[in-house]
Amino acid sequence: MSTDAQIIRNFSIIAHIDHGKTTLTDRLLRLTNTVSDRNLIERMMDSNPIEKERGITIKLAPVRMEHEGFVYNLIDTPGHVDFGYEVSRSLAACEGALLVVDATQGIQAQTLSNFEKASALGLDIIPVINKIDLPSAEVDNVSLELMEVLHIDLEKIVRVSAKSGLNVEQLLPAIRKNIRPPVGKTDTPLRSLVFTSVYHPHKGVIAYVKVVEGKLTIQSKLRLMATDTSFLPVELGIFSPQMVPVDTLSAGEVGYICTGIKDVSKVTVGDTITEEQTVKLIERLPGYKEPQPMVYMEFYPIDGDDFVLLQDAMSKLTLHDAALRYASTHSPALGNGLRVGFLGILHAEIVRERLEREFDLDLIATSPSVSYQITDISGKDREIKTPADMPDPTQIKQIREPMTTATIFTPKIYLGAVMQLTEDHRGVLLGVQDVGSRVRCQYRIPLAELIVQFHDQLKSVTSGFASLEYELIGYEPVDAVKLNILVHNEVVEPLSVIVVRDRAEQIGRAITKKLKEVLDRQMFEVSIQAAIGGKVVARETLKSYRKDVTQHLYGGDATRRQKLLKKQVKGKKRMKEIGKVNINQEAFMAVLER
Ligand code: GDP
Ligand code: MG
Repeated sequence: MSTDAQIIRNFSIIAHIDHGKTTLTDRLLRLTNTVSDRNLIERMMDSNPIEKERGITIKLAPVRMEHEGFVYNLIDTPGHVDFGYEVSRSLAACEGALLVVDATQGIQAQTLSNFEKASALGLDIIPVINKIDLPSAEVDNVSLELMEVLHIDLEKIVRVSAKSGLNVEQLLPAIRKNIRPPVGKTDTPLRSLVFTSVYHPHKGVIAYVKVVEGKLTIQSKLRLMATDTSFLPVELGIFSPQMVPVDTLSAGEVGYICTGIKDVSKVTVGDTITEEQTVKLIERLPGYKEPQPMVYMEFYPIDGDDFVLLQDAMSKLTLHDAALRYASTHSPALGNGLRVGFLGILHAEIVRERLEREFDLDLIATSPSVSYQITDISGKDREIKTPADMPDPTQIKQIREPMTTATIFTPKIYLGAVMQLTEDHRGVLLGVQDVGSRVRCQYRIPLAELIVQFHDQLKSVTSGFASLEYELIGYEPVDAVKLNILVHNEVVEPLSVIVVRDRAEQIGRAITKKLKEVLDRQMFEVSIQAAIGGKVVARETLKSYRKDVTQHLYGGDATRRQKLLKKQVKGKKRMKEIGKVNINQEAFMAVLER
């Protein structure tokens, strides 16, 4: 049995972070009886434990709902700036989008960028003002903003409370009316778009697909076009929201294919799946623009033997997270590791947390760095993704760093504070525009400034009211130097950072001070220095222990002694011996807290 495309509506829910996408999805799941009251858990689609704990969505999540003769395929999306790529992929599988805006916050940076993504794809957009139950809701002002900034028709706006459920029933008729059904025909050769995938130990790679044209059955002999891989599906199904097997998926439908394929590199996101006999008849679907890594970090297993496990874990995560890029690397101090490219710091943090929790790996992570372009004195260009690869200054003709244009939305009263902050971070103001009681500021600002705590500082100087979005625009020359960190007179390469020359001394002082705080004391006195080339610009001394940590407790309080030992053992898990000194994980992060 196949579903008539006329009764299908495919849409994503997009919004700035925390504006209520996942809560609204819960409501729709309830309203359509997709999930019973008894089985509904709060923020149902945030199924990963990290999503639950942090209260944020990091991964797109599809669900199929049926209501009054219609089929709705909804994709919940993440809102944080790092995960814009997930949004783009979700939108590519849809004909429409619900653009959710918090009635107390109005248009924010990601509201705008997500709106632009959806418009560029020509999707039908339904504006939704959420949280109208809150006393501080400014429904009329936000409606005006939507009209002024996004040129949205007033009549199209739906005003709801996802939390109380108020007016949510108006959404389904609006979706039926204002979002077009998928256009693909069923009686043509199969073309289905892989918009994400996950790995299952028994069913192999599970591809999440939108059937753009044609029909898929469990008997189909299928082919992945990018990697020329043939396979027989092990199972087909839909998301309800858990996976439910079906016999066919036809044009316009969203579902999954268990491929049985164990080699994760064969299934690439953005690929087209067709039938073996039609490979020659069709063209591949456009796929996706390759996401560009913004920051790099290196991961080293504490136990060198775990390197193979780390590689395997990363290959599985990459499958689910097409934006991850990685390559093997080796550090004399830390052994074998991976150099990983991420879309931002939150992305990096989450990947690391997943490696540790889902794959049980203990890792040392180096501090994040952007990539630099270098022209050497012979005129040759190359890219540097870690400070360790930086050539000797005498070999360098020019260094270029990644530059962004950043958009910041802030209430007017914080404009001064935002100006100061961006100036401290080498930002250049390009323009300010009024948006109701708020302003939209545009800056040119180096990416390296944005990745180091900028977002936290922005939130802090605006009492949490400002929002940030940025886009890479290219590379620009910068007067930068490599700041080496020496511990006990030895350069600890993984602690080095690339910094602007003007601030090298100041940053060197901050890092050495922080290192003194976080490094464990040794049996001997340890010097901590920051140096540019051979020139020391900052120095601290870590005093030695007078005695063994537990010695003076012998015969005394046994539980206290045990606690202390336990603490030491725990600490060991996150340490690497470099030269004569144990360097702990906190030390690698110290460079961030400058
Ligand atoms: P998302 O990041 O867009 O997915 O946002 P969530 O659905 O996770 O919601 C963010 C926060 O806003 C949660 O604490 C929700 O309980 C709350 N929230 C969502 N919708 C409403 C609403 O209509 N009214 C109120 N008062 N709170 C809401
Ligand atoms: Mg969410």
